[in-house]
Amino acid sequence: MGDMQEKNLNTISFEACQELDARDSLGQFRSQFDLPEHTCYLDGNSLGALPKATLPRVQQVVQQEWGRDLISSWNKHGWWDAQQRVGDKIALIIGAGPGEVLVADSTSVNLFKTVAAALQLNPGKVVVSERANFPTDLYMLEGLIKHLGRGYKLRLVDSPEDLFEAIDSDVSVAVLTHVSYRTGCMLDMAATTAHAHARGALVVWDLAHSAGAVHVDLTGADVDFAVGCGYKFLNGGPGAPAFLYVAKRLQDKVQQPLTGWFGHAKPFAFEPSFEAAPGIQRFQCGTPPIISLAALEVGVDLMLQAPLPAIRDKSVALGCLFWRLMEQECSQLGFRLASPAAPAQRGSQICFAHPEGYAIMQALIELGVVGDFRAPDILRFGFAPLYVRYVDVWEAVQGLKLVMQERLWDQPVHRKRAAVT
Ligand SMILES: *Cc1c(COP(=O)(O)O)cnc(C)c1O
Repeated sequence: MGDMQEKNLNTISFEACQELDARDSLGQFRSQFDLPEHTCYLDGNSLGALPKATLPRVQQVVQQEWGRDLISSWNKHGWWDAQQRVGDKIALIIGAGPGEVLVADSTSVNLFKTVAAALQLNPGKVVVSERANFPTDLYMLEGLIKHLGRGYKLRLVDSPEDLFEAIDSDVSVAVLTHVSYRTGCMLDMAATTAHAHARGALVVWDLAHSAGAVHVDLTGADVDFAVGCGYKFLNGGPGAPAFLYVAKRLQDKVQQPLTGWFGHAKPFAFEPSFEAAPGIQRFQCGTPPIISLAALEVGVDLMLQAPLPAIRDKSVALGCLFWRLMEQECSQLGFRLASPAAPAQRGSQICFAHPEGYAIMQALIELGVVGDFRAPDILRFGFAPLYVRYVDVWEAVQGLKLVMQERLWDQPVHRKRAAVT
């Protein structure tokens, strides 16, 4: 009897989750997003939700700025300096200073630009990354090494524990993703950067799953270069332009290879040869997508209204709740935690491995719980603290339980792979 009472005390109920939402200091942010009804959206780490302010802002840019003011908008409506203006706002989210962050291109292209700049600044023999890094990062490194033909070797480590040993004095640049897209495992940015610097290596950090979700302090960690996504936790919309960071101390020493006219010192002098603009502007290439930039700015402005420590605290709390509920409700159903157990080592997601992961996720999505699947067997649930509620976590775990107990996953339709998973 005593045992049962104790068990009940530790059991988490739906009402307890509602209570957590009622006390959530970020609770009011959800109403600023346009979310579909009856959906638990746990995929904001792949494509962030739509802020309500985005549509009117995009409409204004299209109708007024483009439609009426046409080319004068480059000056009149701040199109010309939008990349640096929005970059300065993102800098506040990732612990960088003014003039250190630029919005441009895609994450893949920014990775190419920053790694090429780093290799030029610090020539060596080896580029280090993780085999489990997001594939585009590895593909871009392969292409860079192949086409710029400097005979670099790509050294891929199989586990984060092997990183320090792999970053030795032969290494020119380490290209590392702060929070793993697959497992949510978060690397120690400051310690890894310090280790690399001590071996004479530079580091390019990919913040795709970090910006807007976890604590990032680029200045404090003495980071050299970083890149990141606009459409994930920053809620900039599909294909939103990405960002890059170059430490002030390096900016005037480096050059990147995509020397387009937007990175020229005097773009409107139309000179026949390239002269790099001072500062971060030299990392621009061609004309930026103004409409997408305007949408991204809305997402970033919204995030800047929230205290960053509260975002991380809630993200950790959502992840811990998810895991506790999985143990309470789904412990016998074959799921294995595929993220680090320690919350401090997890980004803003939690992952579980299951051999039928793909079909399970499809069945779950049909129930209105949207997470995603990453090959070979990972079910991934992301927590965007501005709009995910504690009751969403409850619903997600109840959904998983139902999918398993009723074998809802076990249908041919759920095994058919779509183009985008
Ligand atoms: C999402 C993601 C990208 C995406 O790159 P794009 O060029 O925007 O398609 C890159 N790197 C990592 C680590 C990611 O998670």
